[in-house]
Amino acid sequence: MELLIDKNLDNFATICRQAGLKITPQRKLIYRCLLQSKEHPSAEMLLKTVRNHEPSISLDTVSRTLKTFESLGLVKVMAGGGDARRFDGDTSTHQHFRCVNCHKIFDFHYKPYESIEIPSVITDRFKILGVSVYVEGYCPDCQ
Ligand SMILES: [Zn+2]
Ligand SMILES: [Zn+2]
Repeated sequence: MELLIDKNLDNFATICRQAGLKITPQRKLIYRCLLQSKEHPSAEMLLKTVRNHEPSISLDTVSRTLKTFESLGLVKVMAGGGDARRFDGDTSTHQHFRCVNCHKIFDFHYKPYESIEIPSVITDRFKILGVSVYVEGYCPDCQ
């Protein structure tokens, strides 16, 4: 896990440099907290963790920083939901299970979901940016 985070932080530094974005301790902290989180947190959820390290940080700063990260492709915004926007620091291809009761989001990998064919009723009219598979239900704790 730590190794993966180090690798991501290297990548983070490269992407920021290329985009001309200053790597401030705050930005680094927010990114690191997101990588360490298993929760796919919303900005509010992430703020709690970030404040353990930097109590003076505001929700506005966290939200704005996440938006910047999103535009650089460093984080993914989770599709679907309806509740607050949730963020994923893992930008590799994977799928999600969402518990409808506690709203926890779990990662899983299932190869066949990565090559889903998009029907022509869609491709004829729309420009596709991505496909994500979402499975909903009750997690083990909520059953
Ligand atoms: Zn649950
Ligand atoms: Zn995920």
